[in-house]
Amino acid sequence: MTTATAPIFTATCRRGHVTHGDADTVGRNGGHLRCACGALTAARVLAVTVKPDHRCGVKCTSALGATCDCSCGGKRHGSDHAA
Ligand SMILES: [Zn+2]
Ligand SMILES: [Zn+2]
Repeated sequence: MTTATAPIFTATCRRGHVTHGDADTVGRNGGHLRCACGALTAARVLAVTVKPDHRCGVKCTSALGATCDCSCGGKRHGSDHAA
């Protein structure tokens, strides 16, 4: 059995805020995330490819898509758009 990290879920609310959650908050098959602004938003699994030598920067923190190729493992993905 491979040690897969728990999926990170991401949701972009209608005001454009990006929220992250883990499988415990969202449920394994997806669900909804409550944005800090109050909007309940459908969550998508963030497809994370960890690239240890790719330094995390604006390309990641300003991203709106659900794909992350970065050393942060998705933790900072879209964080510029947090509520
Ligand atoms: Zn990053
Ligand atoms: Zn990213």
